Amino acid sequence: MTVRGTQTREDAVVSIVGGGVHGTHLAVRLLESGLVTHDQLRIVDPNGLLGNFRRQCEQCGLRELRSPFVHTIDTDPFSLGAYARSNGRTDELRSSGFGGDRPVASLFFDHTETVCATYDLDSLLIEERVTGLDERSTGVHLETTAGSFDTDWCLLAVGYGGSRTLPEWADALPHDAPATHVWNPEFDPAEIGPRASVGIVGGGITAAQLATALARPGREVTMFARTPISVESLEAKSEWMHFSSAVEQLQALPPASEARAQVVDDARNDGTVPPHVFQPLRRAIGREAVGLQQTTVEECTSAGGIIVVTCENGRARCLDRLAFATGFGSPYDAGLFGKLRTMSSLAVGYRGAPVLDDDTLRWRRADGSLSRVFVSGAAARQVLGPFAPNIIGAREAGALVVDELERAVAAGASVSPRPADGVE
Ligand SMILES: Cc1cc2nc3c(=O)[nH]c(=O)nc-3n(C[C@H](O)[C@H](O)[C@H](O)COP(=O)(O)OP(=O)(O)OC[C@H]3O[C@@H](n4cnc5c(N)ncnc54)[C@H](O)[C@@H]3O)c2cc1C
Repeated sequence: MTVRGTQTREDAVVSIVGGGVHGTHLAVRLLESGLVTHDQLRIVDPNGLLGNFRRQCEQCGLRELRSPFVHTIDTDPFSLGAYARSNGRTDELRSSGFGGDRPVASLFFDHTETVCATYDLDSLLIEERVTGLDERSTGVHLETTAGSFDTDWCLLAVGYGGSRTLPEWADALPHDAPATHVWNPEFDPAEIGPRASVGIVGGGITAAQLATALARPGREVTMFARTPISVESLEAKSEWMHFSSAVEQLQALPPASEARAQVVDDARNDGTVPPHVFQPLRRAIGREAVGLQQTTVEECTSAGGIIVVTCENGRARCLDRLAFATGFGSPYDAGLFGKLRTMSSLAVGYRGAPVLDDDTLRWRRADGSLSRVFVSGAAARQVLGPFAPNIIGAREAGALVVDELERAVAAGASVSPRPADGVE
């Protein structure tokens, strides 16, 4: 097994699967709480710490975060602001007109690197993919691409696990067609030629950012958006960010149910664009550096390295490249969750959503008891609501997980209880 840093022992007390925003924040919380030491904690991620999120931000040309500077992976919400001040970088905090200022991407990522270094998170990293998981009397058994190991507690923080939404007609495109989803690891906007004609399918934040980032003299950039661009500052109403009454109402519905899924879907401002992304897009459209076609692409063919898209208005366009900015798919359909929903004794509900305990984020077993697997991120949205995938969702999840592990310590005088310890 490839273990980076100083870790050599394979079994762990707590293992975090996924080293993104959620995984790193959970690790920081756990270390700061004193519940685990470095040699008891693992982070398993083939893409390194925050590698996936950093790549996605680069792929869509993200300049500024949508969330305020207090949404950080550090436990201290003011640590990013203090970092900006002490490094003379307060100009990288942008006014949002409401709430706190937003960090530009470089400031956010430089700060996360500092936090990771402060807690020496690199030394916890196992650069492998987890391919399977099952509970045993010895703990949770994790299978990885390079072997297996046991852990007393497992925290799943795998984001969307590679799940992406594509238009139905995209399946018919040949593999060598110059068309790809923006979140495909191989998509690199820097490889797009300076005089290429590029189509972007989508009208939300990713499409808007990418179109603006690609716009330059000589290049033709066209957005194909089904509906008029809708501007919203946040991903959902701010009341959801407090994880109080709106979340309580959500939790009054049956766990992992269709009703909960519906509430969360309705609450999310999916497909919207915040003002700080809309304004540069509008300017780019105004100077004709970006074309906006409000239409549905109905068909697409590819031959000889060219893509031809046909829209509902009957118009066809020839393009050199096509990028799908059509969003994430269900976090339960792909990757590890896709596998666990059919191959484990853990309970799942509507469309494969994990049945989680609302107070602790522990995944319930099929018999209703609490497993030693926690879930944070997009897959916990039926418990924490529309901000579950976000940085603020990681902070809320981190508090719940650490509280529960502290209760386990109080009940069993160890962070590594066995079923007999009575914390089930
Ligand atoms: C471009 C963009 C901008 C965003 N901006 C904001 C913002 O401004 N504010 C905000 O609050 N939110 C924002 N979000 C939403 C959210 O905060 C991010 O998506 C964040 O990265 C989610 O963190 P995560 O850890 O759940 O997922 P990820 O960052 O995707 O991390 C999950 C990790 O799990 C790993 N993984 C997956 N499967 C396995 C496996 N089987 N084994 C081991 N590892 C695995 C992946 O390699 C990945 O590194 C943004 C999202 C995007 C895409």
